[in-house]
Amino acid sequence: MSGLILCFGGVSIGVREWFVVYYFDYNATTPVAPEVFDAMVPYLRDRWGNPSSMYAFGHALKGVIESARESVAALIQADAGEVVFTSCGTESSNTALCCGLNAHPERRHLIMSGVEHSANLKTGAYLESLGFRVSYLPVQPDGLIELDQLEATIMTDTAMVSLMWANNETGVVFPIVEIGALCRERGVLFHTDAVQAAGKIPIDVRTASVDYLSLSGHKIYAPKGVGVLFVRDKAPYQSLILGGGQEKGRRAGTQNVASIVAMGEAARLAARNLDAEINRLRILRDRLEGGLLKLPFVCRNGDADARLPNTTNLGFSGIESEALLLLLEKEGVCASSGSACSTGLLEPSHVLTAMGVPRSLAMGSVRFSLGRMSTDAEVDHLVSVVPRLAERLRGVSPKMWF
Ligand SMILES: *Cc1c(COP(=O)(O)O)cnc(C)c1O
Repeated sequence: MSGLILCFGGVSIGVREWFVVYYFDYNATTPVAPEVFDAMVPYLRDRWGNPSSMYAFGHALKGVIESARESVAALIQADAGEVVFTSCGTESSNTALCCGLNAHPERRHLIMSGVEHSANLKTGAYLESLGFRVSYLPVQPDGLIELDQLEATIMTDTAMVSLMWANNETGVVFPIVEIGALCRERGVLFHTDAVQAAGKIPIDVRTASVDYLSLSGHKIYAPKGVGVLFVRDKAPYQSLILGGGQEKGRRAGTQNVASIVAMGEAARLAARNLDAEINRLRILRDRLEGGLLKLPFVCRNGDADARLPNTTNLGFSGIESEALLLLLEKEGVCASSGSACSTGLLEPSHVLTAMGVPRSLAMGSVRFSLGRMSTDAEVDHLVSVVPRLAERLRGVSPKMWF
């Protein structure tokens, strides 16, 4: 199988194997945009100096990093000085939570929701093991939180609220502006994981009164292994990674220049295409949903309006999602379920479980997420293969599923 073409929704992306991929998993990761790739190559091949060096071959890279910082700042309406480059979205969130709890030693309480990404939930659990108290806000069946409930959960010793801008599994978008205003009014620091929101909906850290915000490169067409933490000017800060004075002492470790350049270019592209992409993807997503929600045993998980334009999470009753995903893979379709394999047992998605989706339906839910390369033809392929595969699986499902 050599010398054949790796296809991407029918478009060649490299010579390796014949492998047609219909990619519906942009919320898991995105390809590196060609413009981003081209922008970063010179910094891997020719300009490989250390930005902290005294001589120009290294030092000149400082300007390159600052230019990337400005591009990222522009995407979220921040000042460049408020942008810290990290190694990933996970590191950004870890850092933000630790900043919040280090800020006021007498404040021992943290609030997040039960549907956060593991980057936040696992850090919350760790902080609990250190003696902090963490409240996990429940979500409604539509995946949204109740603001009243958030307000009632804020205590006099609450240090920080950490709520995601958009959910990776359902695409549900939290009312970040209202949440930010509430936190500001109550004097509580506010972190938001905007990894899924970036490049998909407008982000304005000022109108949302955000203190800390996490971004990840590989969800916005930059490579894996680069992230950003926005830290509002004068917000309390403590670096998680100790060492050299890079990033103005806010994140030690020699800067990953090529990936930082990539992040800047990815942010620039995202900002430039945002409005057009929102409309294009929403139409495409509605086409996908229109095709699959016609099936009597399919339903949508999550609010129909307050959500990202590119994401749909569908429950297939009487079907196990892993089985459907295996059959879909044979048709070249890449998608995912939020199920987690813990201790050898498949567990339903914690997001759907928190929304009160019945276990059997949660075990039969699949996330389809669209992106820059998604086309009508790709969606039509999906809509043409799913009904047949789903019917087949429903035919062989054990009675207990019904
Ligand atoms: C992917 C993702 C992360 C983690 O980002 P990494 O760069 O992979 O560490 C965090 N939060 C959300 C919502 C994500 O989708």
